Amino acid sequence: MQKRHHNPRLAKIHRSYKVDEVASLYGVDKNTVRNWIKAGLQCCDSKRPTLIMGQDLNVFHALRRSKNKRPCKLNQIYCMRCREPRQPESGLIEYQPINEKTANLIGLCPVCNTLMNRRISQAKVEVFASQMGFALPLVDLHIIDCH
Ligand SMILES: [Zn+2]
Repeated sequence: MQKRHHNPRLAKIHRSYKVDEVASLYGVDKNTVRNWIKAGLQCCDSKRPTLIMGQDLNVFHALRRSKNKRPCKLNQIYCMRCREPRQPESGLIEYQPINEKTANLIGLCPVCNTLMNRRISQAKVEVFASQMGFALPLVDLHIIDCH
């Protein structure tokens, strides 16, 4: 089963929650909340019942979310459907300059055939071009030259 992401802004930061309140807020069972505490969620368990600050809940979920994000390598684009960085099919990569600083790379996921997008810096476009194996049109090189 896929790990669920929880909204890191769901809890009210100035409120404290009991374990069962946390469970109903996120729609999970109390054991899940206890696992979160074991996994590093801050709580005041010197008192009974255990109280968890809303702010700590939000921090915990924000951290988890950022840990689950996998960074793309230079030759990869993140596929929203697979939820994985993928190396796009070579020869099918489209390069679209947005402005002098940024460009968009569009590639096809080799696994699920979904179009993937990656915003890149124009300064690095040649690195991406050589890593992913796409050719830069001359007109785009011209844009890089004139800033
Ligand atoms: Zn995919």
